[in-house]
Amino acid sequence: MLKSALPTLAELENASEFHARHIGPDAADEAQMLSAIGVASRAALIDAIVPASIKRADAMALPAATTEAQALAELKAIASKNRVLKSYIGQGYYGTLTPGVILRNILENPAWYTAYTPYQAEISQGRMEALVNFQTMVTDLTGMAIANASMLDEATAAAEAMTLALRTGKSKSKVFYVADDVLPQTLEVVRTRAEPLGLEVRVCSGDEALQNDSFAVLLQYPGVNGQVRNYADWIAQYKARSQGVVIVAADLLALTLIKAPAELGADIAVGTTQRFGMPMGAGGPHAGYMACRDEFKRSLPGRLVGVSVDSHGKQAYRLSLQTREQHIRREKATSNICTAQVLPAVVASMYAVYHGPQGLKRIAQRVATYTAVLAHALKGLGFTLAHEASFDTLHVHTGAKTEPLLAAAVAAGINLRRACAQSLSISLDESTTREDIAALLAVFNAGKTVDAFGAHENGVATLIPAELLRSSSYLTHPVFNRYHSETELLRYLRMLADKDLALDRSMIPLGSCTMKLNATSEMIPITWPEFAQVHPFAPQDQLAGYTELDQLLTTWLCQATGYAGISLQPNAGSQGEYAGLLAIKAYHESRGEGHRKICLIPESAHGTNPASAQMVGMQVVVTKCDKEGNIDLADLKAKCEQHSASLAAIMITYPSTYGVFDIHVKEICQLVKSHGGRVYVDGANMNALVGVAAPGEFGGDVSHLNLHKTFCIPHGGGGPGVGPVCVVEDLVPFLPAHRSAGLGQPSNVGAVSAAPLGNAAVLPISWMYIRMMGADGLKAATETAILSANYVAARLAGHYDIHFSGNIAGVKGGGVAHECILDLRPLKDSSGVSAEDVAKRLIDYGFHAPTLSFPVAGTLMVEPTESESKAELDRFIAAMIQIRQEIAQVESGSWSREDNPLVNAPHTAEVLLAQDWTHSYSREAAAYPVASLRQVKYWSPVGRVDNVYGDRNLVCSCPPVSDYA
Ligand SMILES: *Cc1c(COP(=O)(O)O)cnc(C)c1O
Repeated sequence: MLKSALPTLAELENASEFHARHIGPDAADEAQMLSAIGVASRAALIDAIVPASIKRADAMALPAATTEAQALAELKAIASKNRVLKSYIGQGYYGTLTPGVILRNILENPAWYTAYTPYQAEISQGRMEALVNFQTMVTDLTGMAIANASMLDEATAAAEAMTLALRTGKSKSKVFYVADDVLPQTLEVVRTRAEPLGLEVRVCSGDEALQNDSFAVLLQYPGVNGQVRNYADWIAQYKARSQGVVIVAADLLALTLIKAPAELGADIAVGTTQRFGMPMGAGGPHAGYMACRDEFKRSLPGRLVGVSVDSHGKQAYRLSLQTREQHIRREKATSNICTAQVLPAVVASMYAVYHGPQGLKRIAQRVATYTAVLAHALKGLGFTLAHEASFDTLHVHTGAKTEPLLAAAVAAGINLRRACAQSLSISLDESTTREDIAALLAVFNAGKTVDAFGAHENGVATLIPAELLRSSSYLTHPVFNRYHSETELLRYLRMLADKDLALDRSMIPLGSCTMKLNATSEMIPITWPEFAQVHPFAPQDQLAGYTELDQLLTTWLCQATGYAGISLQPNAGSQGEYAGLLAIKAYHESRGEGHRKICLIPESAHGTNPASAQMVGMQVVVTKCDKEGNIDLADLKAKCEQHSASLAAIMITYPSTYGVFDIHVKEICQLVKSHGGRVYVDGANMNALVGVAAPGEFGGDVSHLNLHKTFCIPHGGGGPGVGPVCVVEDLVPFLPAHRSAGLGQPSNVGAVSAAPLGNAAVLPISWMYIRMMGADGLKAATETAILSANYVAARLAGHYDIHFSGNIAGVKGGGVAHECILDLRPLKDSSGVSAEDVAKRLIDYGFHAPTLSFPVAGTLMVEPTESESKAELDRFIAAMIQIRQEIAQVESGSWSREDNPLVNAPHTAEVLLAQDWTHSYSREAAAYPVASLRQVKYWSPVGRVDNVYGDRNLVCSCPPVSDYA
């Protein structure tokens, strides 16, 4: 009998394996890549590169990989365990209607969500314009002089405002007053941040702060229970007797109707932009904001987009002042914020562009009017209100009926907020309808309907005091008044996206940032209503789906890292570092060794490391690296001995930011531990480790992960991120709590984010990735990432110096981890061409530049990731080789040092098509240095952006239209 020609059932079932979609090179590609490196197999390469001493003992125990369809079905079942009720809880999170055009064309559009942080200004003009719109929106609504491009959330923004006030204010006091109606989670995060800095947080109702010294005060406007107070006189009195700084946490929707914080005398305004179109998502991601008076601008934390000019004198955007400032100022940086909330900020800015000032005001008026209608009706039912002045929130005395009313509400599909044992609060929002008001009133009227609207058809006065009504204008710039039809907005969004290079167009070979595939199936769940429409402070039983997601992801990430416990609360890597160092600090204190405050940090470290250490009150001692990029053991030993009695921790990155697997890592960990210190392993480079080695096994005590690097959450143009903090067994008691959500033991350190699960709504992305890859797929991804980096190194080795390669015999290119550093300093000497020139020239070739001058000045760091196909790697390699030939033409003198395609890059179409062409090279050489560019070409919208000009002439809001002329 003839054997069947059909594949087996198992083969047929495996045909849809996701890992083959996620990993770029196939078996044939892999064979060619290995042969270019000169190694027989992938396993042999990994054996040569990864030190045997750190290899993990066992494979990760993860559920077997599943298909995209099955994973989505499983996740849907988990999501369905969340119960989506109508939430009137407020407390910083409100229902909002994301306009469909924004949902589909930003939030669900890879052109926006796969973009990188706009460090390369020329290829980021679109998203920077959106961020300038965001800054303008915040400045206008708060009345402040300047605003940054987003904060991680409202609570951390308030904490950052506290330290901004401490740095720049004139008072010597260490007291920080917080009004007693500040959001509870904000108070909790502020307390967490204040403690290590020796600041005293005092909560008061107002008078006390007028009688005592303080360096700053934080007010909530409107208060958590809805009260709208005219703070103008109070602020004047506070300022008359103290030099303290006034910080106001303000609701942007309310500010369309009530006086701006600056008009009341505030110095700094903070808050969230969540209700401008970002779903609640159980707490995030949303863009927080910070705005301030002009005098504070040079110490404003976070990123700031400014207006500068390009090499042709045309207006262009760029990141100003603090660009990568932690990398330069390290422990003296204004904050440790790196990844922020760019994508949510773009959504919020476009919400304002779409609605315009009139539209926003109309939404706010409707909310305020419904609130007034509800207040009348509740009073008609015999309830009293705690205050009369309100925008969207009522504080209702409910006495003994509080619990029964809460329960009746839940039974009717409604969440109210327990303001205290005797009262409830109700916050209305954009999504509230007449039917909702009727349903709410029925709860307060034992199920019977109430005619609330009858008497008010012709309008009703809002509960906003007349003296607080806003008369100043806002959002007058044309950008907020032009794109109100959907067609117009659609094209505006497309026009901006087209200016930018994101992963949907080409590889982004950024070292340390792991710009890998963000698969569509991973992205789909984040806008499911079961995940998106949940309030973070809803009763726990309604969050059962999120709880399960948290548990599964935590278990899986423990498998990947070798740690015993994880908190998903930190909403960026920097926040994970902060939480991890807090755990180390709490550990030492629990043993009566609170004097241990020295934190050793190698000079190669990412700038967030020293910035975070400073925030927990540790003292940074820098240790040296040798010429191979490894930690200098002798220097480390000396410093351990010198600081033995006060050693708190070491922070190392593994593999290091130089892209090397230090073979001494175990020794280093043991050495530090023998002096009583704990070991922090920065996990940003986990893409070189997952499935191969686990920091919790080779000596780490604490790590943070960057789920937006290793575990597929897209960069979003600079956020959102998730930075889980992972710890060994004896540090589990010191992970962050979230006491305002009722979570945590006394030993836990305080909350580090506004929401218990931080950026909860993007966690499904990493869940999907791990579920679809399984243990083997994840390990293959790691090995392929290492293979690809070594392939790039091997192919470029004859053309460029590979910095810090391992010099491993038989490995062409010398052997690197998952990234390689190309040293361009020798070429600068021989040709005058700088690393920056090469970075900008790559734009002409259609590529986003690699990481420029980090961690070593004058170099480019390339991390290809496992997701790029061999074809794309070859396209990049061809570009780099061609660029090397261009440099050779400068070296040989056939092009001058002053006029060549490198120093003049990038070339805009306008320059290329100009009547006069005066350069010594041809237009073709400028535009089409390789033939494939004639098929597909990215045109830089601006010439090289002038960094210095932008900092000298700081403009951070939309330039007037006349400037474009
Ligand atoms: C990205 C990165 C960080 C900071 O993470 P964010 O999420 O941007 O805050 C810290 N350390 C290293 C090595 C990194 O690459």
